[in-house]
Amino acid sequence: MASDKRSYHYIGRFAPSPSGPLHDGSLVAAMASYLDARAHKGQWLLRIEDIDAPRTIAGADKTIMAQLSCLGMQWDAPPVWQSHRLDRYRTVFEQLKARQLVYGCACTRRQLTGGAYPGTCSRGLAAGQQARAWRLRVPAGVVRFVDLWQGPQSQDVAAEVGDFIIKRADGLWAYQFVVVIDDADQGVTDIVRGMDLLNSTARQRVLAQLLGARAPRTMHVPLLLDEAGQKLSKQNHAPPLDHGNAVAALEKAWKHLGFPLLPRIESVSEFWAQAVPRWAARFNI
Ligand code: GLU
Repeated sequence: MASDKRSYHYIGRFAPSPSGPLHDGSLVAAMASYLDARAHKGQWLLRIEDIDAPRTIAGADKTIMAQLSCLGMQWDAPPVWQSHRLDRYRTVFEQLKARQLVYGCACTRRQLTGGAYPGTCSRGLAAGQQARAWRLRVPAGVVRFVDLWQGPQSQDVAAEVGDFIIKRADGLWAYQFVVVIDDADQGVTDIVRGMDLLNSTARQRVLAQLLGARAPRTMHVPLLLDEAGQKLSKQNHAPPLDHGNAVAALEKAWKHLGFPLLPRIESVSEFWAQAVPRWAARFNI
């Protein structure tokens, strides 16, 4: 096992959607992925997930990068913007289509009840029907994996989710689709992100398998909730991080991850110097 550990070339990533600046909640995910990459002496990549153009705020990418730098979190390769990769997504989509693994779906939101997609359009559209969205044909079977924070997981994607959308009715590529292509193309071995995406992981593993990619290991860390028990997010107007006090912002995220306060931290570099070995010890890295 020890030799396995040494030969493991870790590539992690932080993949923010530039719909606003980093806030206390997104910092928790950024911190956990950064700590895990540094503890493994691996690479940490930054990917700007600006695929959802209507939700993208101009300049938020630059703000996030400035915030990460100010927090002492340095990425190891030039960042990747999803908006620059549209040709790649189209190519993969065409490949799946040629393999008959995707199909056009004419169902409107009103026709769908909200449970698993019943496969209404999976045998083709009637004459005169127009494809609105495109769905992946999900193979039968239960997806099982062990999440490094949440433990063993299983989901029968075909039964519980059904054929899911990879190209949306508004013409945009779905997050579930592009994230898998990006992680595979960037050689990501380890995904560390917020708990809200645990439920997406089985779908992403199905896609990775169909694309012949190795599914990354995952760790889904607890979310920071507001007083109403809601995920802190840009949508519910979480305040941006306080630039003036980077150490305090780091300490807050660190505490949320369940660690005791570090003694005498006066700079961001001191914070990381102390935090990384503690993370490594906790996860036996
Ligand atoms: N872009 C996603 C978000 O900001 C994260 C995607 C991921 O880590 O897989 O919620």
